[in-house]
Amino acid sequence: MKLICIGRNYAAHIAELENERPVDPVVFIKPDSSVLPKEQDFYIPEFSDDVHHEVELLVKIKKVGKHIDPKFSNLYYDEIGLGIDFTARDLQSKLKEKGLPWEKAKGFDGAAVIGKWVSKDRYTDLENLSFVLEKNGEVVQDGNSSLMLWPIDELISYVSKFFTLKKGDIIFTGTPAGVSKVQSGDVLEGRIEGDSFFKVNVK
Ligand code: ZN
Repeated sequence: MKLICIGRNYAAHIAELENERPVDPVVFIKPDSSVLPKEQDFYIPEFSDDVHHEVELLVKIKKVGKHIDPKFSNLYYDEIGLGIDFTARDLQSKLKEKGLPWEKAKGFDGAAVIGKWVSKDRYTDLENLSFVLEKNGEVVQDGNSSLMLWPIDELISYVSKFFTLKKGDIIFTGTPAGVSKVQSGDVLEGRIEGDSFFKVNVK
């Protein structure tokens, strides 16, 4: 199983990190060892002083596909979820400066929170889904899939040009604005349309 992550998919988040707007989606992979086991606490790794939360809508691939046309993307997933792409921003900045790969900053153990899954049929319009991340009960990230530069079906098509998608693969679709540093003691809870998808304690 692989985690395919999209960077810079929301204009306001690109602006907050002073990144350039990409011509194509930014794509990177997290290893399966980065998945935070269910119900476990997230431990800030000792190599970072600045781990950020990035709440993201998730899509679970249900069958093998490659070179998928966007109009058929909907046949490759049934389930939608919500998760966190934890990012060691200090390490990532150093790697970016040197033009090096980001994996250490994004693929470390526990860096991928995957909440519960629900049927996509639960929602009438996947291109207008609101979701939030609450930190200690306060909304810190407030997103809507309508603000994605590339919607889900286009992302699936794009990534399938490079990687064969397999059953169980998960796509992290990018984070909206509002990323910030987490601290020991924080409680992070993610919701889609008000419904809780995960709750994680930071240690
Ligand atoms: Zn992300």
